[in-house]
Parts: sequence; structure tokens; C-alpha cells
Amino acid sequence: MKPVVYSAMQPSNEDLTIGNYLGALLHWIRMQDNNECVYCIADMHAISNIKTNKAIHSSSLDILALYLSCGIDPIKTIAFIQSHVLEHCQFNWLLSCYAYFGELKRMTQFKEKQLKAKEPINIGIFNYPILMTADILLYQTNIVPIGKDQKQHIELTKAIANRFNNMYGEIFTIPQPCISEHGSCIMSLLQPNIKMSKSDINKRNTIYLLDSFYSLEAKLNKTITDSDRPPIIYYEPIFKPGISNLLELLACVGKTNIAQLEIMFEFKAYGCLKKDVISILNKLLTALQTKYFSIRKDEGYLNKIIYDGSIRARKKAIITMNKLYKVLGFSRILTNISNKH
Ligand code: ATP
Ligand code: MG
Repeated sequence: MKPVVYSAMQPSNEDLTIGNYLGALLHWIRMQDNNECVYCIADMHAISNIKTNKAIHSSSLDILALYLSCGIDPIKTIAFIQSHVLEHCQFNWLLSCYAYFGELKRMTQFKEKQLKAKEPINIGIFNYPILMTADILLYQTNIVPIGKDQKQHIELTKAIANRFNNMYGEIFTIPQPCISEHGSCIMSLLQPNIKMSKSDINKRNTIYLLDSFYSLEAKLNKTITDSDRPPIIYYEPIFKPGISNLLELLACVGKTNIAQLEIMFEFKAYGCLKKDVISILNKLLTALQTKYFSIRKDEGYLNKIIYDGSIRARKKAIITMNKLYKVLGFSRILTNISNKH
């Protein structure tokens, strides 16, 4: 049996970013041949963040079309929408009875969102890591390719899975995160000390996969670098976060290594580095967007992938749910896998 890989992106009413691509998607694509991959569009997670959900299905199809244009193969891989596989939410409740308030309160992402919140913060944001734990454990996942920001959530997933296994026997596979050394935390363009996020309200912080050349050029030309004199290009994320971020983008997209780039740019100005980043990203985005706009037009095709994906995902999910119901002593055995929309 091949190892199971699970990962997801939230349809937050925005397109995916270059951070989502380098931190996660690029690895999802690479893993498709030798693993059993389950890639989700996490719409249930998204509603903890977005106010209007009228366009959530359309936004989910945008994300699916981006998955496909980046190289996700819906035959090899299960691609589905989280809300279509009812077991995610059902399992979320069961697991919430095995997770502790204190451990959730320590989650950095929750603390950051709580600090920034201008309105009362909803329980969905607090509960997010339990739903994420349910997402992962439901498929008996071995590997979770993610960006660095999700590392703490995976540690929690492992802790809950181990706790459960210690009580009831070997119920869950313990998942391992797959976080690459470079590209797993692409930083914001104007605030290179915080992570780039698709839902950032300042769009000039973020490179979206569907940005036009003009938008890409304008954003990168305005990227914060530093005032070192003479300007020196080298990788030092703490003291030179802006320059390090540009080097990381260039290295990851151009498949070179950072040490080589430092030599290439030794006596060059910051503007030269920006120019090369713009050029390499433009090549990547142009190719990707051509595919995207042709795929996105065909909603019938996209909905069919989602429909098939949810049936394939549910078949797997139900096996874990049956196992769980049994060990927890519930009498109902789940056999119904009809998935009419
Ligand atoms: P949101 O603002 O909606 O939370 P996001 O950009 O953080 O958007 P998610 O859908 O939360 O995106 O995360 C999808 C995947 O992309 C996760 O594996 C996450 O770790 C990864 N990821 C997110 N941002 C970055 C980034 N800046 N660099 C590398 N990986 C990232
Ligand atoms: Mg996020």
C-alpha cells in the first residue's frame, strides 16, 4: 500500500498565492506518483474567516482549477470539497472531546488572530486545529505537505492521535509533516517579517497566482528591502528579511540554490534582484494562467471532478468513522455512502 498524503487550502474568496504554491502545492504535485494523495478544498475552514459565503462554491471551483493548472491530476489524486464529505464535521465533534482547551489556547495562529481581531472572535477560529486534526486522521494520513505556519497544528494532531491510540489501541496512523527547507514561509512584500497570506487585506503584500504582469511588476518593484549601504545581497532572514525573501522566491521558482544566487548577485544592486524575480515569476504565472483560464470555463468538468472526488474520499472516511464508532461503543454502523448533491 502506498503512503497516504493529505493536505488542503482554504477558499478564502481569494486566489492562491505564490506562498501556497511554493510551500505546499509544488510538493503535492511531486508526491502524486508514489503516494495515495487526498487534496481537499477546505471550505468549512474558510467560513471561520470570511463573512460572505455566497460565492463559496465558485471560490472552491477557482481553487480546484488552480490545483489542476499547477499539475494536480484528478485521476491519480482525490480532489474534493470538505463540506461534501460529511464525516469531517462529525469526526471534528468526536475529537473535540479528546482535545484540551489549554492546548488549543496555546496555538500561535489563534493567539495572533485574537490579537488582531476588531470584533468578537468566533469559536470556529479556536476550533480550527481540531477540524484540521479530523481532516488528517480521517484518511489515516502518513504525510502532510504544508508550509511552516502549520507546523504547530500538526504537532497538536500528533498529540491528539497518540492520546487516542493510548486509550483505544492503534486506531490512527500518526502523520508526519513535510515542510521544505526553503519556500515554506514566503513573507509579505511590504512587511517581510510576517507571512504572506491570501486573505491579507493589503493586496500589495501578496503575489497571487492570477496576478497580471503589471500587477506583479508593480508589487515587486515596491517590495521592502533594506537601507544597508553599500547594498549587499545575501541570505539572512532575521536581519535582511526583504532580500532573503526575494532570494528564496528566485531559488525556489528557478530551482537553483541560494548560495549560487549569492555569488551571482555579489556586486549587483537590489534592483537587479527584483528584475530577475519579476522575470522568473512572470514566466511561471503566464504558463499557469493560460491553463487556468481554459480549465475554469468548464464548470461541468470541475463539478464532475468534485463529485467523483467526494465519493472516493467518503469511501475512505467511512472506514475510519466505522472504526471509531466501534471503539467508542456507538451502535450505529455507517454503511450509507450515497453522496447526492
Ligand atoms: P489564509 O489567509 O486564507 O489563511 P493562506 O495563504 O494562509 O490563506 P491557507 O489556505 O491557510 O493559505 O494554507 C494553504 C497551505 O499553504 C498550507 O499548507 C500553508 O501552510 C501554506 N502556506 C500559506 N501561506 C504560506 C506562505 N506564505 N509560505 C509558504 N506556505 C504557505
Ligand atoms: Mg492560512
